[in-house]
Amino acid sequence: MIKFLDLQTVNMQYKAEIEEAILRVFRNGWYLLGEEVKTFEENLSNYIGAPHAVGVANGLDALRLIFRAYIELGIMKPGDEVIVPSNTYIASILAISDNDLIPVLCEPNIETYNIDIDHIEKLITPKTKAILIVHLYGRAVFSEDLIDLADKFQLKIVEDNAQAIGAEWKGRKTGNLGDAAGFSFYPGKNLGALGDGGAVTCRDNLLANTIRTLANYGSNQKYVNIYKGLNSRLDEIQAAVLDVKLKYLDGDNNVRRAIAKRYVKEISNDRIILPNVPEDCKEHVWHLFVIRCQSRDLLQKFLLENEVQTLIHYPIPPHKQNAYKDWNNYDFPLSELIHGEVLSLPISSILEDSEVSKIISLLNSYNLSSVF
Ligand SMILES: *Cc1c(COP(=O)(O)O)cnc(C)c1O
Repeated sequence: MIKFLDLQTVNMQYKAEIEEAILRVFRNGWYLLGEEVKTFEENLSNYIGAPHAVGVANGLDALRLIFRAYIELGIMKPGDEVIVPSNTYIASILAISDNDLIPVLCEPNIETYNIDIDHIEKLITPKTKAILIVHLYGRAVFSEDLIDLADKFQLKIVEDNAQAIGAEWKGRKTGNLGDAAGFSFYPGKNLGALGDGGAVTCRDNLLANTIRTLANYGSNQKYVNIYKGLNSRLDEIQAAVLDVKLKYLDGDNNVRRAIAKRYVKEISNDRIILPNVPEDCKEHVWHLFVIRCQSRDLLQKFLLENEVQTLIHYPIPPHKQNAYKDWNNYDFPLSELIHGEVLSLPISSILEDSEVSKIISLLNSYNLSSVF
């Protein structure tokens, strides 16, 4: 079986260094808010190019804390609106609604699957305070037009960088394009921990300090609470592991790019729509390699019968979820089309050439009579 993602083998590539890191923390006996997190935050901040990085418990918290900090700083208030792509993972939207802000869904561009920047302006109202861009599947989304729009309407640009760590737009890393960015180190992400983890990067000193305080019970001095904060910390073991893996991230992302290049070049089947490849290969880190097929469920079954595991990102659009019942009658045709047709192929730094070849030949042989 070719697994969708073989995390054990991914992490075993760095066995000696990861074991050393874990043992170091264990022996030190300091588990939270220590030197490992500090070192990782510094290295992440240098890597991204943003002056501040704050480790937090997970990617959802990273995004929640950004909006929460904007509220505490008086820049946003409950009832304000945040524009977000309609086809994103639910976490982007939860981060907004959890702060009593209103998510305003914007349809994606069908070529890139990222938010359609041309559609944003018509969604802006006097209550709009931010645009949450999501670098979905690992592809950076940004433009001069977006900067102009944010300037014109005084909007914050927040990046959901959970899927795109390492991607660049015009030589700048995602996570350093907007005002603040949330990262996820969920094990399956391009930079994955051995459990949960997340971070926020930003340029503004006050914002960074507010987020750090909010994440630590609203306290920056022991037993003195400025805000009704939460407990959202990256722990020392995860930070030590992430610091090992950060060194290999660019190399891993390049392997993903090479696999994506083969898929795009060698998959040829009228029933399959391949992802659009950006001109600048650095814009994409291929967290997911997502194809589309009208008979997606049959294709998935065919691949599984031939020992290739695939996943769907994502089967149900946010506006059709029970969690957002009020939106169930809304019409987002592109989002619905995407959710009905997408299929993610295996892609990771440990996928063998022979496995890629097998997947390609299966896809090229697929037709509607392949599965009964
Ligand atoms: C994974 C992910 C998140 C949430 O990250 P967690 O660490 O799982 O909380 C947020 N947004 C997107 C787009 C993601 O893929």
